[in-house]
Amino acid sequence: MRIVITGGAGFIGSHLVDKFLSLDYQVVAIDNLITGKSENLTVHKNLTFIEQNICKYLEVEGRVDWVLHFASPASPLDFTKYPIQILKVGSSGTINALGLAKAKGAKFFLASTSEVYGDPLEHPQKETYVGNVDPISERSVYDEAKRFAEATTMAYHRFHKIDTRIIRIFNTYGPRMRPEDGRVISNFISQALTNKPITVYGDGKQTRSFQYVTDLLEGVMKMMEVNFHDPINLGNPYEFTILELANIIKKLTGSKSEIVFKPLPQKDPKMRRPDISRAKEILKWEPKIQLEDGLKKMIDYYKTILVANK
Ligand code: UDP
Repeated sequence: MRIVITGGAGFIGSHLVDKFLSLDYQVVAIDNLITGKSENLTVHKNLTFIEQNICKYLEVEGRVDWVLHFASPASPLDFTKYPIQILKVGSSGTINALGLAKAKGAKFFLASTSEVYGDPLEHPQKETYVGNVDPISERSVYDEAKRFAEATTMAYHRFHKIDTRIIRIFNTYGPRMRPEDGRVISNFISQALTNKPITVYGDGKQTRSFQYVTDLLEGVMKMMEVNFHDPINLGNPYEFTILELANIIKKLTGSKSEIVFKPLPQKDPKMRRPDISRAKEILKWEPKIQLEDGLKKMIDYYKTILVANK
């Protein structure tokens, strides 16, 4: 098997690279390294790295069985830092990745997001919920790009008969998430370990559900095995308020950090929790790692990198 992974040097992409290398696949990782890091990639005889923006036409020599499209900045911080790149990678990047799959007769896998549900009015979110997205808010660059990517994937599936998969990834964390990434778990752990104030945005009553990266990887592998083309949510259904999360991280790190309240970012979703009945039924999948166990692993990882960065 030969697999192309866009965003292969990113947080999730690089874990997928490792997973496929461990299964003895040939892997081609593509990344322009705006948020990905080449250090995330190991040197391996079965791995080819192409430093390129997937928005530019891409020629890959030889056979390709799968194109996994995981490239995109994904942190809310990136929504204002890289708005145009996000729009481009979700639109022309997706078209190029689909074009590559079409040219090679390969299957195509889209990493979509719970952000397609926007600030949801249905709770928990089922795949049939069509969402509540403001098309001009700061978050819209990511939300609309991924909605466009889903629409494009389904169009290529229906019109060009490409064998496609779409997953909607809910908040995911784990090693290789950049400490400066800006997302809540990376911020809170970095702040707690350095005894800096833990920054809760808004009143901290907004909710999220956090999935450890290894659970997501299992879901991806199972999704590749089924013949199912509509989107499937992959996330952990246990829901926490952000204030609860801050207190759990404070407790687990034994930190003296105080909790401070900062303004809520524009259109920050008030609640988010996946309905995973479709994943359970079609993939026979559900996450296994509980929040505290995943956080402990993440804290150990951040301890090593924060010491190394000193
Ligand atoms: N958040 C927070 N403090 C931070 C970073 C994030 O309170 O330092 C909040 C953010 O406002 C949101 C939630 O945590 O309500 C999750 O944010 P994240 O950036 O991880 O991802 P999102 O789920 O919003 O895409």
